[in-house]
Amino acid sequence: MKAIVTRFAPSPTGTLHIGGVRTALFNYVYAKQNNGKFLIRIEDTDTERSTKEYEKNILDNLRSIGLKPDEDPINQSERNEIYLKAAEKILQSGNAYWCDCSHEELEEMRKAQIAAGEKPMYDGRSRNLRLERSNKTVLRLATPEDGEIVVNDLIRGKIKFNNNELDDLILLRSDGSPTYHLCNVVDDYEQKVTTVIRGEDHISNTPRQIHIQNALGYPELEYAHLPLVLGTDKKRLSKRNAATSLEEYRDKGYLDSAILNTLARLGWSQGENDVFYMNDLIKEFNIKDVQKAGAIFDITKLDWLNSQHLANLSIESFKEQLQPFLQQLDIDIEDHENSNKLIEAMRTCDNTFSGIAKSLIPYYKDIIEYDEKAIEKFINDKNILIELRDLLNKIDNWSQEVIDSVLKEYQLKNELSVPAVNQPIRISLTGSTKSPGLGLTLSIFTKNRAIERINKLLDKLS
Ligand code: GLU
Repeated sequence: MKAIVTRFAPSPTGTLHIGGVRTALFNYVYAKQNNGKFLIRIEDTDTERSTKEYEKNILDNLRSIGLKPDEDPINQSERNEIYLKAAEKILQSGNAYWCDCSHEELEEMRKAQIAAGEKPMYDGRSRNLRLERSNKTVLRLATPEDGEIVVNDLIRGKIKFNNNELDDLILLRSDGSPTYHLCNVVDDYEQKVTTVIRGEDHISNTPRQIHIQNALGYPELEYAHLPLVLGTDKKRLSKRNAATSLEEYRDKGYLDSAILNTLARLGWSQGENDVFYMNDLIKEFNIKDVQKAGAIFDITKLDWLNSQHLANLSIESFKEQLQPFLQQLDIDIEDHENSNKLIEAMRTCDNTFSGIAKSLIPYYKDIIEYDEKAIEKFINDKNILIELRDLLNKIDNWSQEVIDSVLKEYQLKNELSVPAVNQPIRISLTGSTKSPGLGLTLSIFTKNRAIERINKLLDKLS
């Protein structure tokens, strides 16, 4: 059996899109589970829209998220001669011809076809004219007029296309430059690709590309067209309905493994087991189980999976990866008397690193702003806070258990509700009513710092 070779072929006209990461991921996994190769090709023939910055963004992000190609990526912009040779070969074999129809002539033809209720397409009028090449001619593929092309899609099964519905597509423009379809087909052959896994928006290109392959005598390829990635509004995922660039998600503090987990589930699932890693995917993924219907990218799913992946990190790795997010807030993770205990207590307080880092601010910095609504709601009687401060101040063994029991005793003795006791202290410590269990939160601070913070709030209230 031939070794499997897949490829991801982005056009560098924007930053790496998460839909693109999903395509790259399925190509990568399919290659790896078949002991094959995963390659990258930069389709940068559209010089107006392609930039080196986007190319760098795409390559850097693919590498760093773990989708490393097995060979150096190639750029179509550097391979013109190869495409021209292929075009020449098709011309020599009699499967292409020069066409000098002007833009106006083609436009007239199109209008007439529409007026006659026909599907507008080039009608092959130059096919038998045996025109010579000039600076006004394009090279067209002579597509077979009858018969059909059957695409055996790994996901969609057999898809049939009638040849008489395909017009003679352009291989070389009048300026001599090769077109997208020609480059794409030639490179798949040159890179020894066996399997094309790409978005379903390319399905209609497939029969056209197969005709070019046939004209060149290339072997057949395997195809898998992936369902579109949709936003929660069921429209194609775009900047209008979600953040689309991979970088934005990484910057918010989603783990690479959680992003890949979420993207793998866009079109494929593994029964009940939601949480998985690259190794599981390589073992379990089956391209034939990918669904045909559009797959919805739902941020709440990513949030949930991220929280699961965060929980699976060792404390060392968690701290290491949290560090840059704290640094952005001018916080050094070790700049706290109880940093391990603090991080352990807070690691599940949010779904992302950036959210967790933000929640950690009051533990590292003085409180500048208090939640005024919370103060209004929970602190009617300052004396409770004064009494609690004095009780806490008397504790010798500043531990979670002792603190909790002192607070409990006070609450029961005074017949107060739990929030009436806990929230004023919480607000003193963190500025808000959000924190882990109160005994734990207090024990994360030194006794002095805790008392200081209560005094500070009392000062503010008076
Ligand atoms: N360059 C094409 C794109 O970015 C991909 C073509 C292909 O995978 O065959 O959509």
